[in-house]
Amino acid sequence: MKRDTGQNRAITRKWKPATQAVRGGTWRSEQGETSEALFLNSGYCYDDAETVAARFAGEQQGMTYSRLQNPTVQMLEERIALMEGAEACRVQATGMAAMTTALLSALKTGDHVVGAKAAFGSCRWLLDSLLPRFGIETTVIDGRDNDAWEKAIRPNTKIFFFETPANPTMDIVDMRHVCSLAKAHGILTVVDNAFATPVLQRPLEFGADVVAYSATKLMDGQGRVLAGAVCGTEQWINDVLLPFQRNTGPNLSPFNAWVVLKGLETLELRAHRQSENALKVGKFVETRVERILHPGLPSHPQHNLAMSQMSATGPIFAFIVEGGRKQAMGLLNALELIDISNNIGDSRSLLTHPATTTHHNMGPEGRAEAGIEEGMLRLNVGLEDPDDIIADLDQALTAVGL
Ligand SMILES: *Cc1c(COP(=O)(O)O)cnc(C)c1O
Repeated sequence: MKRDTGQNRAITRKWKPATQAVRGGTWRSEQGETSEALFLNSGYCYDDAETVAARFAGEQQGMTYSRLQNPTVQMLEERIALMEGAEACRVQATGMAAMTTALLSALKTGDHVVGAKAAFGSCRWLLDSLLPRFGIETTVIDGRDNDAWEKAIRPNTKIFFFETPANPTMDIVDMRHVCSLAKAHGILTVVDNAFATPVLQRPLEFGADVVAYSATKLMDGQGRVLAGAVCGTEQWINDVLLPFQRNTGPNLSPFNAWVVLKGLETLELRAHRQSENALKVGKFVETRVERILHPGLPSHPQHNLAMSQMSATGPIFAFIVEGGRKQAMGLLNALELIDISNNIGDSRSLLTHPATTTHHNMGPEGRAEAGIEEGMLRLNVGLEDPDDIIADLDQALTAVGL
């Protein structure tokens, strides 16, 4: 039997996730290269005029222009779709390009969107500032409150938009409930799954319609490139997302797609190891600070819900120091190993103060509403030995009197 390189879905769908992550979507050129080839080209040449005419007419398969198709980009799209259990995927230049494309491609003036208030700062900006500018109404609710989702529904509600766990408060949305509520009202559910990735959580299994990513985070996982992805049904991707994406051009470069392909090969290992490390570090931090928001710890108010939706709770958690902004900043400045950095999903441990970085633009009132306190710090636990991370936090906490 001929070996399949990763293009035949009848075969690749049956592979286990770890196999899909390494081999899914691979397309080999006539050179028989082992690793995925990097096609750094914007255009394509044709043997004759009839061939290009047939491709533009949609009568013949084949590439025509890299805003529309590129072999390296397509390999990444196929691999993410397989890992997500989705029919189709398209990738974008950044996570925010993915969120913007997913929302704007599906909405028009007069529509209404309900979103969870705890969200990545720029996702909140889309809801609070961008969509209203085009006459799209938005309502922001507490995503943890199942009744609030139902109460916010209007006749013109088209989309529910949320992330879970949410940045940086680690709020969990009950996907079984919220997605089935949406289905009953003909509302499209768009889940930003950047914190979990398909390795730790597969929203489509809970009834979500569209899963969107910042692939900058765990998918690349090594702090190298920006990337985004949107997954959904073949019909939704082809009929709704693609006309918008192909004509507005938020495309991912082939080079960055290639880097993310390499990142996905180790995603399962990294996501699980970083989750284990984050639990170990979290248990230590819990003994030293006023409050910790870690969905993997029983002290998290939605711990059971998180464990029922996720296979592991990921590398990220937040904690609150009682001394507010001053003490939080003092702790950052006392670190010797962990970097002061607002990125997440990296193989390096990174600590940030959301109120002065990722959620600075929301202003004090917005932050208070979203539950982002002055003493809150958000930690991304990396692949270092957890004992070294704990030792660094131990000395930094001591340095600020904790
Ligand atoms: C980082 C992030 C984004 C934005 O992704 P970029 O790749 O930085 O554009 C969106 N949502 C969540 C939850 C994120 O963590």
